[in-house]
Amino acid sequence: MRDARHAVEETLDPEDWTELRAVAHRMVDDAIDHVAGVRDRAAWRDMPETVHSRLRAPLPVEGAPMDRVYQDYRETSAAYPMGNIHPRFWGWFMGAGNFAGALGDFLAAIDGSNLGGGNTGPAALDRQVTGWLKEMMGFPADAGAMLTSGGSVANMVGLVVARNVMSGIDLRERGVRAMPQPLRFYGSEQMHSCHQKAMEVLGLGNTALRRIPVDDRLRMDMGALARAVAEDRAAGWKPACVIASAGTVNTGSVDPLEEIADFCAAEGLWNHVDGCIGALLAIAPGGRALVKGLGRADSLALDPHKWLHAPFVAGCALVRDRRAHFGAFTLHGEYLQEQARGLAAGEFLADYGMDLSRGFQALKVWMALKHHGVAKFGRLIDQNIAQAAHLADRVRGEPLLALMAPQVINVVCFRYAPEGLGEDDLRRINTEIMLRIQEAGTAVPTDTTIGGQHCLRVAITNHRTRVSDLDLLVEEVLRIGRQVAG
Ligand SMILES: *Cc1c(COP(=O)(O)O)cnc(C)c1O
Repeated sequence: MRDARHAVEETLDPEDWTELRAVAHRMVDDAIDHVAGVRDRAAWRDMPETVHSRLRAPLPVEGAPMDRVYQDYRETSAAYPMGNIHPRFWGWFMGAGNFAGALGDFLAAIDGSNLGGGNTGPAALDRQVTGWLKEMMGFPADAGAMLTSGGSVANMVGLVVARNVMSGIDLRERGVRAMPQPLRFYGSEQMHSCHQKAMEVLGLGNTALRRIPVDDRLRMDMGALARAVAEDRAAGWKPACVIASAGTVNTGSVDPLEEIADFCAAEGLWNHVDGCIGALLAIAPGGRALVKGLGRADSLALDPHKWLHAPFVAGCALVRDRRAHFGAFTLHGEYLQEQARGLAAGEFLADYGMDLSRGFQALKVWMALKHHGVAKFGRLIDQNIAQAAHLADRVRGEPLLALMAPQVINVVCFRYAPEGLGEDDLRRINTEIMLRIQEAGTAVPTDTTIGGQHCLRVAITNHRTRVSDLDLLVEEVLRIGRQVAG
């Protein structure tokens, strides 16, 4: 070992900041050009093998100057992003980022705090952000709240609390095998796959998640739900929780939240709402009515990295009963005791979820909300819905296109469908249309299958999209469709 008394002691900080300061300033300038010029670039492009191979270079043993490192990044990863900040990216359901949020992420990293707990400025700011999210969702100010990596984990947090409360035993101590009756959870056939994953991880298993059929608008069928619950009771299950989708991932359909809340209250079930897509409709003047009843949920998952455009990642779990939320996760090792004063005073944020070490992701949400104001985010949500309505109108106006699901929010499902073709041909043609549009860098639609019918899917969660971008998409689908179908 080196003798620390005589060696020159090292640090990761430079002796002279001049060079690093210059590169950092250049990064900020380049970042602004990158965002300001996004419309002029391809929505996506494939990364060539030469670049892939550069990203398989071995572990650097010795360091290099930052301007060289930065150049390496610019030429490799930075040149081939996913594209979700592009105005014509409508794949899956992703936010488009925002510069205020990006600055927040940078400053959070500079601050460097670990938000697992304690009595720090960043922890207080985190609580302010979750307080704002509760207010936006119509949740009580004293509800439990946790910023998570994303919606999958936020949903799991809610479902863990639901399982523990509904088990009727000290589940943390005794485990699922001590439950007197098996628990059953209910979600519509259109619910997100993260719920199955959660049930598997929770030790309840996939069979404990019963899929409820949907009506012709792809919303949970309440009659079918009531029948399923009664049937399960008679068969010895303990009906525990209804997972309502406030915006399904396939089509954006919204389950009847008020009716589900009434049903859960009458039947003594936990009411969990997956609001990863649509919870933020609550801040949109036009969209708000679609999610009436959201604030009645026992637990709610939402995703600020979707319609609030937080740079990835930011999810949030809210649980009405703060004690139940805390009771599901609190645990302190002897090295982590709360104190009456000092750095470890106050409740730990980590008492509300699985992560002990937690990043300062609240800052990117805080900065964007302070800079733009919540009203603007609400207007942008309504703008996306209006753009989706325009696209649906265009599809209805084209004889060669077919709308494949009702357009309710910002999701439009449609396909190129000349008469007389079977399902296999239509799938092949529309998959090819999608891939050619992506590969040309024109736009990024994705696809899905609804009731056995394949289609293109456009989710406009994008504050940069213009109506003319959607018109271009329609023209390209028609043009390529004619080519492919021959
Ligand atoms: C995106 C999404 C999820 C999962 O959220 P992640 O942030 O991707 O983990 C869950 N449910 C719905 C309805 C979603 O749209």
